[in-house]
Amino acid sequence: MIEKIISELQRVIDKERVLWRKTDMMTYAYDASFATQLEPKEPEAVVIPLSTDEVQACVQLANKYQVPLYPRGAATGQTGGAVPIKGGIVLDMSKMDRIIEVDDENFQVIVEPGIIQANLNAALKKYGLFFPPDPGSSKMCTVGGMISNNSSGLRAVKYGVTRQYVLGLEIVLPTGEVIVTGGEKSRALKSVSGYDLAHLMIGSEGTLGIVTRIRLKLLPLPPARGIVLCSFPKIEQAIEGVRAVYHSGIIPSAIEIMDIYATRAANKMRPDLNLPETEALLLFEVDGNKDIVALQVKTISEALKSHTDYVKFSDDPEQCENLWQSRKIVGAAVGNLKPGGIRVYGGEDICVPFSRLPEAIRRIHEITNSYNIVCGIYGHVGDGNLHTAPIIDINNQQEVEKAKQMIEEIHHLAIELGGTTTAEHGVGIVRAPYMEIEHGQALDVMRRLKKTLDPNNILNPGKMALPT
Ligand SMILES: Cc1cc2nc3c(=O)[nH]c(=O)nc-3n(C[C@H](O)[C@H](O)[C@H](O)COP(=O)(O)OP(=O)(O)OC[C@H]3O[C@@H](n4cnc5c(N)ncnc54)[C@H](O)[C@@H]3O)c2cc1C
Repeated sequence: MIEKIISELQRVIDKERVLWRKTDMMTYAYDASFATQLEPKEPEAVVIPLSTDEVQACVQLANKYQVPLYPRGAATGQTGGAVPIKGGIVLDMSKMDRIIEVDDENFQVIVEPGIIQANLNAALKKYGLFFPPDPGSSKMCTVGGMISNNSSGLRAVKYGVTRQYVLGLEIVLPTGEVIVTGGEKSRALKSVSGYDLAHLMIGSEGTLGIVTRIRLKLLPLPPARGIVLCSFPKIEQAIEGVRAVYHSGIIPSAIEIMDIYATRAANKMRPDLNLPETEALLLFEVDGNKDIVALQVKTISEALKSHTDYVKFSDDPEQCENLWQSRKIVGAAVGNLKPGGIRVYGGEDICVPFSRLPEAIRRIHEITNSYNIVCGIYGHVGDGNLHTAPIIDINNQQEVEKAKQMIEEIHHLAIELGGTTTAEHGVGIVRAPYMEIEHGQALDVMRRLKKTLDPNNILNPGKMALPT
């Protein structure tokens, strides 16, 4: 059957963009998740479309032959979202990566989904504009992937998440129709006309439609930034410090935390940083024009005075870069916490209510200690979003099994504390077991929506606890 589909695909799409050889299929069997590291899943064919028409043709063929279709951006996802767990065809969107139009008069841009976040922002710089959501993977991930996962990052505390910047989408529906949400001709920055279909698609992880064109809202690029780095003997004091900063009337562009293990790892990689190894290190970033930045840095330092034993701050660009290094390198540095170990992604983007943060960090440490697994914690503390980074020997089966159980406990902890299992990386296959607990009856509505839009269950089946 797949041979027949491949030959039909080759009739509508250039032969070199329809892949089927074993060696090619292997490269499409993974994303960045622990789950697919352990159990890769190969597709039977891969198509690399260059236009909406080609995407539409693939969807029509997938329906005709009832074959699953898996959209994929750069596969930096952590949850198996883009991985073809039921075989079928992967639609590699990475070559649809053009900037169609920068409409700087109206503070917006129209792009294709395969454009890489950092490439888009590099192109926007000369207009003095930017697209703010900034995942740690921004040099690799596509804007289409960001929309499908509703990605965010360090600066979400001030600038919000991808959802806030999407003005309209062109989408190929699972049944093959092409629609434009947000109006065919609109360049308006706001609209309340009709059902908000764009926002239904955002975060739907490629299960409700394939994004082929995107109209994004842009913001003016702030000309200056400042950093405040401070350390706290106790986690509770750090969270009180964040509260004090908020009450000083400032919303920093980023508020990041590093626990003692994360700090130790950063010092190991870059001894010159010489960070104090206390229970919690905080980094605040502020941005705006130069005078406002200087004032904000001063106000934050004042607000923290009675909570911290160590503050360093600067609004000088070079010194800022240096202060920011500790946070920048931590994702890679944590791997050094255990010789021969690697960092696996699991329970890595939980989010808890602000008031429960100290308890969450302490309890995660208790859990990881009880499994005897080294684990650094860092993350976007201003939103209550924590990254846990377990370091394990992936070739040691016993340790892998322990890690799986530990990750499950961390997910349950997030729910118990009134939070969520995922605030950034999405559901995919990894968080599917928690959908019912998190959403209750609402999951049934999601399943009904999926059935209505995708009656043949063609698009990204087997994900998000939707019908398989
Ligand atoms: C080192 C590292 C750091 C990261 N840091 C962050 C972070 O700070 N914040 C954060 O939010 N995430 C982060 N991530 C996760 C990931 O990078 C983001 O979710 C990213 O936006 C995914 O983009 P992608 O192009 O790689 O998508 P993929 O992984 O290819 O796909 C993700 C999902 O989108 C769907 N999809 C992709 N393209 C389309 C399309 N055109 N139409 C419909 N569906 C589509 C896929 O089917 C899949 O379900 C990180 C990942 C890594 C490896």
